[in-house]
Amino acid sequence: MILLFAFLVQASLAVHDEKREAETVILVSMDGLRWQYIDEGYASTPNLDYIARQGVLSKYIKTVVPSKTWPNHQTFLTGLYPESHGLVANTFWDPVYQEKFVLDYDCANYDAKFYNASEPIWLTLQKSGGRSALYFWPGFGGYPEKPTFYEKPAICPVNCSEVDPKELKNMRNATRDGWPPYIHCMVNHSEPSQQRIDKIINWLQSDNPPAFVGLYIEQPDSTGHGFGITTQRYKDAMEAVDRDTVGYLIHSLRGLNLFDKVNVIFVSDHSMTDTSSTRQIFLEDYINLDDIQLVEGGTVGHIWAADDKINEIYQNLTDNNNSPMTVYKKTNIPEEYHWKHNRRIPPIFVDPDVGWVVRTSRASVRQGNWTVGDHGWPPMKSQSYSVFFAHGPAFQKGLEVSPFNTVDLYPLMCKLLGIEPKPNNGSLENVKMMLKEYASKPTAKGKVTILESHVPTILIVLSMTLYIHMISWA
Ligand SMILES: [Zn+2]
Repeated sequence: MILLFAFLVQASLAVHDEKREAETVILVSMDGLRWQYIDEGYASTPNLDYIARQGVLSKYIKTVVPSKTWPNHQTFLTGLYPESHGLVANTFWDPVYQEKFVLDYDCANYDAKFYNASEPIWLTLQKSGGRSALYFWPGFGGYPEKPTFYEKPAICPVNCSEVDPKELKNMRNATRDGWPPYIHCMVNHSEPSQQRIDKIINWLQSDNPPAFVGLYIEQPDSTGHGFGITTQRYKDAMEAVDRDTVGYLIHSLRGLNLFDKVNVIFVSDHSMTDTSSTRQIFLEDYINLDDIQLVEGGTVGHIWAADDKINEIYQNLTDNNNSPMTVYKKTNIPEEYHWKHNRRIPPIFVDPDVGWVVRTSRASVRQGNWTVGDHGWPPMKSQSYSVFFAHGPAFQKGLEVSPFNTVDLYPLMCKLLGIEPKPNNGSLENVKMMLKEYASKPTAKGKVTILESHVPTILIVLSMTLYIHMISWA
């Protein structure tokens, strides 16, 4: 009898483990991976191709305005457009706080008040009793609560928790050549992706593994920014991501017999387009630079100015101006951008044509001839969309679905994790067809599925009954 009991308990635990694994979601973001190059077969990506054959592919998914890293990564985890989650750019001005947010390497990146408009999926999961893990996910350090497992920023010459935010403006002088211009505190982007995956695998093997894992890889974005997207270097960087991130993760999960048991989703946050020294718009040609602050420049222009100067600046930027850009007052920004109804949206928004950038002055820019990759233009203009590949027990096999919106990914992941979504801009209806659960089932197979799904309950009930009997016998 005791042997039978032990067997049943073990069997029910095994089923419980399988159920737990089946609810695991690993979201991998490969920054700046061009969906166009995958579609065109420009780079060799055998591992992503394998995921497409064995799982679900969308040629692209529609990223949010602006096609920048911080806004899109926050959208992945909240299902909200940037005007609702509040990370409206990589760098922005908050007129109520009277402070500037700067991504990644700046102390403001770790300041909770910039993140308080939304709750990311990992935090909701933890509040409902689950565990999460994040590896370098943009913005993860902005919440007072921390993921169950995470890798801390390793390069921190400044202790951000001891700095008065009002002092930060005096601590932003360029002290380094290149990117970033200075460092308050940041993660170690040079850590190889295989090392990151090894740590995630350790977390997954722990007694209480995470149900949600977010992994961020900064390539091929950083290579694209440095050298342009038509270079061998960018192609090599794409192929390295496929090999060292996608391939290595598949290999590592296989080693644990987990590859077919957990749900893995691969995305990028935007595409990239080349811009060059010959495609720059200089604000000094139209307006007095003393009147404005260009808080974010380049592929987007956030112009802040005193209220009584706004009309004059707008007129000067638009009258007889044939420059390749569109200039909006905040009230005229297209609703379809979902980038309008937030106090952090600037009173004047310069939207350069795709491939062009906006700068303050000729003196402020890099000299000489150059071509580099960039992103940020509204994705509906620039097609700066994301890739999407998914594989796992919940997903259909060999299915290509129509492009959908990035915001739809959040309700999909909540469904996989079995948690209640927070109010969001996405819709499960748009994406549920990629799940086995919603596939049209042939009758015979459907019966088998139903039987299997009852096995855990039956075993647990049996073993509990026996346990109660044994207690009463003791
Ligand atoms: Zn990015």
